Amino acid sequence: MHGRLETRDLPRAYSLLTMLRSGFTLSILLGSGLLAGALACARGDAQTSQPPSKPRADAIMKTDDEWKKILSAEEFHILREKGTERAFTGALYKEKREGKYLCRACGLELFSSQTKYESGSGWPSFYKPAKEGDVAEHRDTTLGMVRTEVTCARCGGHLGHVFEDGPQPTGLRYCINSASLKFEPKE
Ligand code: FE
Repeated sequence: MHGRLETRDLPRAYSLLTMLRSGFTLSILLGSGLLAGALACARGDAQTSQPPSKPRADAIMKTDDEWKKILSAEEFHILREKGTERAFTGALYKEKREGKYLCRACGLELFSSQTKYESGSGWPSFYKPAKEGDVAEHRDTTLGMVRTEVTCARCGGHLGHVFEDGPQPTGLRYCINSASLKFEPKE
């Protein structure tokens, strides 16, 4: 008798527990989402779940050892291991001169000073890539968030993320690591 009562009550107790647990998880997710929004760029090392798409005809592919020969340790970590530089520390965060922003790894022109703006995030921010198709997008579900990672479409180097809170005319904010870029001032 006693045992039967316990068995009957188990599903109810279990569903209550599940509800409590999912509520708890939801508040953690909401909290981290808000925090991430405030911090703007990626924190920690992102890993994308997207399978690699077919490489383009001019794709540049190198081994890690080859990249290490042409990139500093920090550049390698950010570009090849999807790292993130600390906010407000990047060399190009405050760059205001006219010029082009090239991929630090392969030299492809990715952004222009004409679309750079002060986002307050602590990372160089642009509202548009220099050329459609040269900045590739990937779904990034790390750190309990859904974000869009952006990479150089030619060499696959990690650049940062794109968010939908940028200025007009696009409404986009490309939040990019300084270490992923090389600035070429206008002559
Ligand atoms: Fe590149």
